[in-house]
Amino acid sequence: MEQTLVIFKPSAIQRSLVGEVLSRFERKGLMIAGMKMMTLSPEILREHYAHLVNLPFFPNVEASMTATPVIVMCLRGVEAISVVRAMTGATNGRQAAPGTIRGDFSMSNQENIIHASASPEDAAAELKRFFAPGEIFDYTPAALSFTYDTSKLNS
Ligand code: ADP
Repeated sequence: MEQTLVIFKPSAIQRSLVGEVLSRFERKGLMIAGMKMMTLSPEILREHYAHLVNLPFFPNVEASMTATPVIVMCLRGVEAISVVRAMTGATNGRQAAPGTIRGDFSMSNQENIIHASASPEDAAAELKRFFAPGEIFDYTPAALSFTYDTSKLNS
C-alpha cells in the first residue's frame, strides 16, 4: 500500500473544516497512519515549498502557512497518493471541480485548505520531512476486506 502526506493548512483550522475534511478521507477508506499538530518553521516551509521560494507570492504563502499550527497526516491505502490528490482538486479553489475538497471548501489559490503529495517521490520525501521514525503506525483495520478487492489484499 502507498502512504501519502496531507497537511491541514491554517485555512482548514481557522475555518473549522478539519473534521469535515478528515471525515471524507475516513469514509473513502483511507487509513490514518500518522497525525500530529505542529508549527511550521521557516526552514521546513522553505524546504517543502522549494519550487515556490523564488516566486513573488512566496512571502504570502509563508505568512499564510504559519498563521496557526498545522495538522500533518500520513494516509495509507492502495494508490493512496493519486486517490488523495484527486480528492484534493486543483490548486485554485475557484477552479477546482465541485466534489473535491478545494472545489467544495475554497475560493482561493493560496487559502486552499490542504496540501497533498503529488507523486510517490514527493510523498516519500515529505513523510520523511514531517514525521520522525516511530510516528507512523502500521496496523490492520478490521474493515480491510470490505474496503478492497481480495486480489489487492493478497498482492
Ligand atoms: P499544490 O498545492 O496544488 O500542489 P503548488 O505546489 O503549485 O500547488 O503550490 C503550493 C501552494 O502554494 C498552493 O497549494 C497554494 O497554497 C500556494 N500557491 C500556489 N500558487 C499560488 C498563487 N499564484 N498565489 C498564491 N498562492 C499560491
